[in-house]
Amino acid sequence: MKKPPLTIFLAGPRGFCAGVERAVQIVERTIERFGPPVYVRHEIVHNRFVVERLERSGAVFVEELAAVPEGAFVVFSAHGVPKAVPAEAEARHLIALDATCPLVSKVHREAEHHFAQGRRVILIGHAGHPEVVGTMGQLPADAVLLVETVEDATRIELDDAAELAYITQTTLSIEDTHAIIAVLKARFPRLHGPKHEDICYATTNRQSAVKAIARRCDRLLVVGAPNSSNSVRLVEVARQGGCPQAALIGRARDIDWRFLEGARSLGLTAGASAPEILVEEVVELCRQRYDVAIEEVAVTREEVRFNLPRALIA
Ligand code: SF4
Repeated sequence: MKKPPLTIFLAGPRGFCAGVERAVQIVERTIERFGPPVYVRHEIVHNRFVVERLERSGAVFVEELAAVPEGAFVVFSAHGVPKAVPAEAEARHLIALDATCPLVSKVHREAEHHFAQGRRVILIGHAGHPEVVGTMGQLPADAVLLVETVEDATRIELDDAAELAYITQTTLSIEDTHAIIAVLKARFPRLHGPKHEDICYATTNRQSAVKAIARRCDRLLVVGAPNSSNSVRLVEVARQGGCPQAALIGRARDIDWRFLEGARSLGLTAGASAPEILVEEVVELCRQRYDVAIEEVAVTREEVRFNLPRALIA
């Protein structure tokens, strides 16, 4: 039987970013060099496939340091941790390796800088996300005010005369964040902010790539986890950008084929914590049902690389 045609528009860049590559390598190298088990506080990156592969090599994922035996190796996830966590690791004689993405660490330094200047810090981000918990935990309790939405920005009550500054989570929607910042700036003209926004290059590029294909796609799939902020944002960006029928899947096996009924074009991308092999898996499964033509649409090339901690080099 003749298969129906399906053009797959592959968004580029997609998938793993430099911060995720580095975090995964830190776990792998620590296991190679020092042997298993190596404990990892929180999912190293928000992707079950990656986590399960590392578990098979000897990583043990825990939510809190209390679950790590004294003297063991522990890696902190790419999302960053509150200051209390390395302090607790030291007190318990754990050997800690920090896989916090350098672009998240940069936001931590901004928070400290503003606080040292006597400014009240507003963090734009999503409550409960580990990156937000880590960034808020760089400063004393109550020093950071969290703003999640334009409504929050409209409602917060702060002294007009106070020195204020904003920072943001790295994986937010660019448009939503700009709208929140615009409200804050209108209400608090003395607001300080980063010279270049805190939303990272990887989030920016993946959102731009989705915008570039969204209007050409009957459907769009984002490979990523429901707790991956940047993946969830990609679905929203696709919907806002011209492809209302966009959905998130963890693996190819999650595809609901009824979703693709009647579609002649499919956009495909992956969040920053999803490896390329999961995208290939989707393409392969589509080939079993459709006569697939691939068109890669790359808005830019990424050459960002981050160094590993010194203890793991050479
Ligand atoms: S998404 Fe951005 S901030 Fe997060 S790990 Fe990747 S590069 Fe770093």
